[in-house]
Amino acid sequence: MKFYSTNKQSKSADFKTALLRGLADDGGLYMPNKIFNFQFLFFNDLKSKYITVRVIQRFTSLPKTNLEKIINEAFNFPVPLVRLNKNLYILELFNGPTLSFKDFGARFMARVMNYYLKKSRQHLNIIVATSGDTGSAVAAGFYGLSNIKVYVLYPSKRISELQEKQIATFGKNIVALEVKGDFDDCQRLAKQALNDESLRAKMHLSSANSINIGRLLPQMFYYFSGYRQFRTRYAKSPKLNPIFVVPSGNFGNLTAGFFAQKSGLSIKKFIAAVNTNSGVPEYLKTGRLSKRKTKMTYSNAMDVGIPSNWARILDLYGIPMRNINVNDEKLEKLNQDLEAITVSESETIKTIREIYKKYGYILDPHTAVGVAAALKSKSKEPKIVLATAHPAKFKEIVEKAIGAKIALPKTLAKIAKKPKKSILIGKDYSELKKILIGR
Ligand SMILES: *Cc1c(COP(=O)(O)O)cnc(C)c1O
Repeated sequence: MKFYSTNKQSKSADFKTALLRGLADDGGLYMPNKIFNFQFLFFNDLKSKYITVRVIQRFTSLPKTNLEKIINEAFNFPVPLVRLNKNLYILELFNGPTLSFKDFGARFMARVMNYYLKKSRQHLNIIVATSGDTGSAVAAGFYGLSNIKVYVLYPSKRISELQEKQIATFGKNIVALEVKGDFDDCQRLAKQALNDESLRAKMHLSSANSINIGRLLPQMFYYFSGYRQFRTRYAKSPKLNPIFVVPSGNFGNLTAGFFAQKSGLSIKKFIAAVNTNSGVPEYLKTGRLSKRKTKMTYSNAMDVGIPSNWARILDLYGIPMRNINVNDEKLEKLNQDLEAITVSESETIKTIREIYKKYGYILDPHTAVGVAAALKSKSKEPKIVLATAHPAKFKEIVEKAIGAKIALPKTLAKIAKKPKKSILIGKDYSELKKILIGR
């Protein structure tokens, strides 16, 4: 399988190249040439991991036994589907080591990269910009690998103390860079480094953001798993297809959902739930994505002004990356398949409080944006909300909303006690470059 760039200016690449490069030469994102339809697999009573191996194998051409091993090791924690009522389900994606759904992508990608690098005895430097959870998932996923060094860029004072500890307490091959700016600054710096020819001549560079195709593909797994649990336990009739509600920031999670749907999974449609950083709902209404400043919210991992994976979703629908007419047919089709709903800060808190009161279930702020969007939507089909983070990661906000204490899971309690080791840098690219070259 070949991967082309959304900017259509560079040559297509095989999976290994796309994985190790991250961004294409022309600054675009890699997209698969073809998404094979595996619909027949979903009608059989097959394990979701088995299906995932079959599907990902078509994209990557990795040997089946290696892929099986990687997937079994990477996804070694449960993904329960919790029923709140007949029409509202929560798919818990936060049971991995860093308690967010990003563990799926990061753990898979680390193992696949390691597989290729070991084979060719190469060394790799990874640069990753994070609004919180990516950094910790990537740091944990890659920690201790001898042939990969990871630089994590995160916005100073804009992520929770615990999130910061989860990035900046590793040491060894993990370098934590605290940027005096917001997430968009971090992302710009990372992109600049990845596009810097003179830097690339000196070191082998790659990204681990959700722009990396190696992180998106494994995320199809939990759509398969959530669907299967829904189908076998709650909705035996194959006519009743669920809506997946995806709390979104950079829209990688949703892109993986579209990949899963195109691979043959019967998803009715998607709801993208966003906080007040609401570029995408505006785009769906107007056909234009205006430049906007990132706003800080309770669901900080979704504080993204300009979502990078939006280019992929437009590409899937054949929509060019410029302003288009509101009445464009392709935009209409996208509007049928995707509803985007904005959730305010007060709605987020109110949802955490009310779901706790009504069901005794505790939501984190990101999942709460998803549940609030599910409740606001007029679509009638059952909704599966992706629970993207464990509530304990956002202890202060959640405890205030529900008026009760919640316990820190053991892994978090341990990290909370460790001292942070990070390097503070400004927004200027030269500062980052100095650090990258100096090491
Ligand atoms: C990263 C993240 C999101 C947003 O996911 P995208 O793939 O960037 O849209 C939502 N919730 C949590 C907890 C996250 O860490």
